[in-house]
Amino acid sequence: MKSQLTIFNTFSRQKEVFEPLNPPFVGMYVCGPTVYSDVHLGNCRTFITFDLVYRYLLHLGYRVRYVRNITDVGHLESDADEGEDKIGKKARLEQVEPMEIVQRYTNGFRQVMQQFNVLPPSIEPTATGHLMEQIEMVQKILDNGLAYEKNGSVYFDVAKFVQQYPHYGKLSGKVVDDLLQETRDLKRQDEKNNPADFAIWMKASPEHLMRWKSPWSVGFPGWHLECSAMSTKYLGEQFDLHGGGMDLQFPHHENEIAQNVGCCGVAPVRYWMHGNMLTITGQKMSKSLGNSILPHELFSGENKFMSQPYSPMTVRFFMLQTHYRSTLDFSDAALLAAEKGYKRLMNALQLLPELQHPGNTPPQMPDEDAAVQAACNALYDHMSDDFNTAMVLADLFELSGKINALYNKQLPPDALGLETFNRLQSVFPAFVQDVLGLADDTAAANNQLSDGLMSLILDIRAEARAKKDWPTSDLIRNRLNSLHVVVKDGKDGTTWTVE
Ligand code: AMP
Ligand code: ZN
Repeated sequence: MKSQLTIFNTFSRQKEVFEPLNPPFVGMYVCGPTVYSDVHLGNCRTFITFDLVYRYLLHLGYRVRYVRNITDVGHLESDADEGEDKIGKKARLEQVEPMEIVQRYTNGFRQVMQQFNVLPPSIEPTATGHLMEQIEMVQKILDNGLAYEKNGSVYFDVAKFVQQYPHYGKLSGKVVDDLLQETRDLKRQDEKNNPADFAIWMKASPEHLMRWKSPWSVGFPGWHLECSAMSTKYLGEQFDLHGGGMDLQFPHHENEIAQNVGCCGVAPVRYWMHGNMLTITGQKMSKSLGNSILPHELFSGENKFMSQPYSPMTVRFFMLQTHYRSTLDFSDAALLAAEKGYKRLMNALQLLPELQHPGNTPPQMPDEDAAVQAACNALYDHMSDDFNTAMVLADLFELSGKINALYNKQLPPDALGLETFNRLQSVFPAFVQDVLGLADDTAAANNQLSDGLMSLILDIRAEARAKKDWPTSDLIRNRLNSLHVVVKDGKDGTTWTVE
């Protein structure tokens, strides 16, 4: 019997039993990256978190439509509708088309996601690919009397909206009266009836690069609008799950709710999930603070924070050790420990298929049998308890201990009953590989090491030959031969094969 999945809903600030609107289907939306620069490890944490949610829902048998967008227009430098478009600015500085920036960093993002073994979403829509839908949404909000036009820009009327929908601010824990009374000395505020109002369409200034025709002006959509329009298009006016990093709660997600309610009359999301931040020496990792580490810097070891390179799977394991709603501090010591833990888990994964059970006998050690069954149940209980991956890893280590003991003959082969043995054989790899998404990259690391050692040995042999030191060169060749490594000297140098 699998335990019921519960999810901490940011909206209610409670764990709730997950009941999809139309089982077995689940609609899930996650805010994707703004593709104006390389994703850093903080961004990756959030995408790995929702990869785990996606993977577990799939494992439980749900048919998930997972939409994760690409923000390629409308995200301005400031959340308060101020400053240049992040992508437009980068394009201006590099003197390239904005879409070249978008393509470059979208490619980079996908490559990094693949390195971390993050599954691709079912749909990856872009904001610029959904201008029609966004313009239609603005029109509906205007028709419903919840937005107003000023000088070609359209603003969402928060003061009016809260009279109809009292929950504005609830998701992010903001007090609406404070928002309405806030005074900020920003250019666009002159056009707004109220400082809490936000742009859903913006008229483009003459130098603005990314612009489209609309009934109000040649301009571009507000940042929050794309997620409202694309989630409605692909998942319907109401859908099950919406995720993102917790720094998106306000204004992005709060305003997404307002737009959906303002357009369609219903709150769009049943369960709001927010991942906590990756920090470094206690500070949020972010591009603007200059403390961000890029994945390739970590994989190559070329960064000032780490003593050695770490593999993508070690980093993924490191992230799984902490619950997604807690902050996670990035440090060399923590990664070193994670590397050890990851290797231990992979070792158990490699040993498991080598174990043999003698046949259909009752368990010779009923306590061991019960312990394995309990740990297998705990995997489901813990993952179903708001995706507690830290506890899932503890359960997997408990099972790894049993696998090692069976392999080393500390436990007899028939210690477990056949049913329990078979359950261990199926549940352990399913959780490690399918649910946690931990692929075994230790073989690749070993290959790299043996390639490096072979090249060293062949260099020493070449030097011996150059000095006409035939005994050393023959010794190397013969010893390699006895290891089935055949060395061939040709015109283009020396090659080796394992036979
Ligand atoms: P952006 O490209 O800035 O829109 O961010 C993409 C995602 O990364 C969002 O869901 C952010 O909440 C998330 N994010 C940004 N910084 C961090 C961080 N330090 N830790 C975890 N998630 C982050
Ligand atoms: Zn979004």
